[in-house]
Amino acid sequence: MTELCVSITEVDGRDAVDAIHALPPEVGLCEVRLDCLQGDFSAIQSSVDCICRSSSRPIIATNRPKSEGGHWQYGESQRIELLLRAASLGAQYIDVELTSCDRFPFSAIQSQIIVSHHDFENTPPLGELNGIYDACLEKGADIVKIACMANDAADSARMLEFLRLHAKKDTGVIALCMGEEGIPTRVLAPKFGAFLSFASQSNEMQSAEGQLTWDQMLNLYHFNQINEYTDVYGVAANPVSHSMSPAIHNAAFSETKLNAVYLPFKVHNPASFINTFVPLGLNGLSVTIPHKEAMLPLMDELDHLTRKVGALNTVNIVDGKLFGFNTDVSAALSVLRSAVEKGAKKNLESSSVLIVGAGGAGKALAYGLAGSVGKLMIANRTLERAEKLAAATGASACAMDSLTEYTPDIIINTTSVGMHPNTEAMPVPEIMLQKQPLVFDAIYNPLETKLLRKSKDAGCITASGFAWFANQAVKQFEIWTKKKAPRKVMARVVKKRLSAF
Ligand code: NAP
Repeated sequence: MTELCVSITEVDGRDAVDAIHALPPEVGLCEVRLDCLQGDFSAIQSSVDCICRSSSRPIIATNRPKSEGGHWQYGESQRIELLLRAASLGAQYIDVELTSCDRFPFSAIQSQIIVSHHDFENTPPLGELNGIYDACLEKGADIVKIACMANDAADSARMLEFLRLHAKKDTGVIALCMGEEGIPTRVLAPKFGAFLSFASQSNEMQSAEGQLTWDQMLNLYHFNQINEYTDVYGVAANPVSHSMSPAIHNAAFSETKLNAVYLPFKVHNPASFINTFVPLGLNGLSVTIPHKEAMLPLMDELDHLTRKVGALNTVNIVDGKLFGFNTDVSAALSVLRSAVEKGAKKNLESSSVLIVGAGGAGKALAYGLAGSVGKLMIANRTLERAEKLAAATGASACAMDSLTEYTPDIIINTTSVGMHPNTEAMPVPEIMLQKQPLVFDAIYNPLETKLLRKSKDAGCITASGFAWFANQAVKQFEIWTKKKAPRKVMARVVKKRLSAF
């Protein structure tokens, strides 16, 4: 079983003991960072005594020198002396850097020894990782730890491949990537058989870049339920940290009791990401900015609409074959249809529709509505983009400064005007609301845009970007799992996240 290990970075021994005591039962062990303890050397010795004698969990004693990314402020002999002291007081594991092994008296202690290697710049090629592993074994490691900086999601894939190669051997392995790109290695450690994965006490107390908190590991990614059979999904994006998709899909998997996890993949190069992660056993992806178009040529099959729109947001992977979909289109259309059913003056087929914006969202709606509404018009700040999209979808284009000449039955905003933080901006003049068109705003942050607020005040039927967003996630879930999505739970998660803004 892969343990969840929380790094304790308190500056005082008593606080460290309290922090260890406060952790939930799912946390199997703690790494106490002796190099974070403060005070003169004798005060630090007392802290170590206090921690080792009173810890309610097995501990790893780590005393990282500055050259290995740590904070140790005294001499090398004192650093080693403190580790030996922790070992003599019963610390179950002692972390010794590969570069320090020759100075460390392995035979003097009973504790298990973790021989660790850190690379704060790169994740080396697999052959080099194997060489480091062999060097750690040669020094007498009971457990080998390799932590390297990931600069792309593909680096994480290589580290997981390394882990898979060595995990079933007698010597335990800890293999992880640092940085946001390395998050998959931390969460998937149990799937690939790592000895442990690290987490921090809180966001403010990370001991390494990209480290998640124990709360995120347990309650967002359900770390303690991950095993070798867990299916892996995620969002391929850059940036990815703001994405709500991990919260939505992990909640859905948990609600439906599926053995699956959903991760943030910070992807710089879609081709190398696909080529390295799919062979590891990836089951599906959400795809968002800036990869919706770049992913297209990497698919084995695309449905007709996705090919036409020229952008995908969903990948289903079956037996290594990649199927691309665009759930944005069908999700937006079902939101629009149910708004029309709420009592719009005309049905969709006979309505005149104005789409404002000709970016990704505008394209999805224009292709989705092409040929199935009374009249389709596209307006955009950059008129040429509106003209190009209009020509491709049989619509007409109009300039933003002539919008008030039109009285469409339906107005759809697909620009980012009014989006957080510029929430007081309006994409169309307020006067256009007087004739009470149906108004659909693609923006979901804020939950209610100024456009929607003013539209409601004017008596218009409205549809929100929140409903679109939740709907496309529901459709993704159903494509991947062939099961009915827990729509209410998913919508609740999005709403909660957005309300916290
Ligand atoms: P995009 O491809 O970057 O397109 C942005 C659009 O907004 C373009 O038409 C752009 O016009 C226009 N725009 C930007 N700033 C403007 C300004 N100051 N004045 C007038 N027009 C401006 O982005 P996208 O992917 O289409 O997303 C657009 C919005 O839709 C975002 O708020 C996004 O969150 C939302 N969205 C929501 C969902 C959902 O599920 N609810 C799905 C997709 C998108 P130019 O062509 O002139 O630059």
